[in-house]
Amino acid sequence: MLRALCAIIVLVSCVAPAALTELYLSDYYTYEGVMDYLDRLAKEYPTRVLVKDAGRTYERRMLKTVTITNGEWLPGKRMIFMDAALHAREWMTPMAALYAIHELVVNFEQNSDLLQNFNWIVLPLGNPDGYEFSRNSDRWWRNNRTPNGGECYGTNLNRNFDVAWGQGYAELADPCSESYAGSEAFSEAEARLVRDTMHELVDNGSGVMYLSLHTANRSIFYPWVHDSTPTSNHHEMQEIARYAAKKIYAKTSTVIKTKQAFYYGGVMGGTSVDYAFKVGFPLSFVFEMSGLAYGVEYKFFPPQTEIRRLAAESWVGIRALAEKAVEKYPPGRIIPRVPRVTASSKAPSSRAYNIQVGLLSTLLAYVAQHLVG
Ligand SMILES: [Zn+2]
Repeated sequence: MLRALCAIIVLVSCVAPAALTELYLSDYYTYEGVMDYLDRLAKEYPTRVLVKDAGRTYERRMLKTVTITNGEWLPGKRMIFMDAALHAREWMTPMAALYAIHELVVNFEQNSDLLQNFNWIVLPLGNPDGYEFSRNSDRWWRNNRTPNGGECYGTNLNRNFDVAWGQGYAELADPCSESYAGSEAFSEAEARLVRDTMHELVDNGSGVMYLSLHTANRSIFYPWVHDSTPTSNHHEMQEIARYAAKKIYAKTSTVIKTKQAFYYGGVMGGTSVDYAFKVGFPLSFVFEMSGLAYGVEYKFFPPQTEIRRLAAESWVGIRALAEKAVEKYPPGRIIPRVPRVTASSKAPSSRAYNIQVGLLSTLLAYVAQHLVG
């Protein structure tokens, strides 16, 4: 009896830690499931993981960030900041973020090169109100759930940032549209949290790469989105994006497009990828993951049986982008910083601007609105 009891105790002590932080990829996580997973991880790996309850949504859900290190909480280590699910219906993105977190924490040994000179901060569920609404009520829902008056709800968080805010196409100003940019730049708590995290990392000199996960365009975009002008380090971002696309193709045969975002969708103001670059992240990317399975385009809602494969594929891309960030921004390289402009950069009249942009932009905007996640 005593021997059996001892065996049970030994067995439990061996399997419990793994079970606590096992990542289940047989179904999409709920909001509660994501929050619970992060808490378990923090409990199991307190020396390498810090989970922060960083804000509240309109419907009072938590916005949790997780900071991941190799155990050396040294000041001045460089940072990769990744968010996911700013768009509610892009169900694979929180799964991919959790997969990345799991790789960095639970599979630390295989990925310690990504944590030698860098720490990571991840916001795996950037729009929990919209995510739950998409899961439970209207799966094509894209925005958050802030009321806009009348029967209209929600702001498109990836149009709510203070960079060319409101510029691009008419629906940005329509409170009933899934492209609504908000009542003003940073009207939304979720966008403000992403902004504040960016500012903190830039102000303490650590912010190197911002990466925003979306689906399902199979592309890696970089700034600018609101302007056709190439950035000062256009070639560097182009090289990194192409490197990640090649890695994915070599592993899974999925073709990932790489491009300055403007040349895919035309003028689009208020995006997080432009804002990160504007405030001082030298590298800023949108990774639009694949929604493709065996030739079928599932777009935002791949079947549950595909979650593991697509999350693993996304990690190939995320890892490749991070490898290059680590390689190109070693501790000795000075990060060029731009003085932050605090005044709103929106045009005096976004409507007047829309008219100037003309027909071509309207066509491109249609593409952006309907094809890009
Ligand atoms: Zn999206």
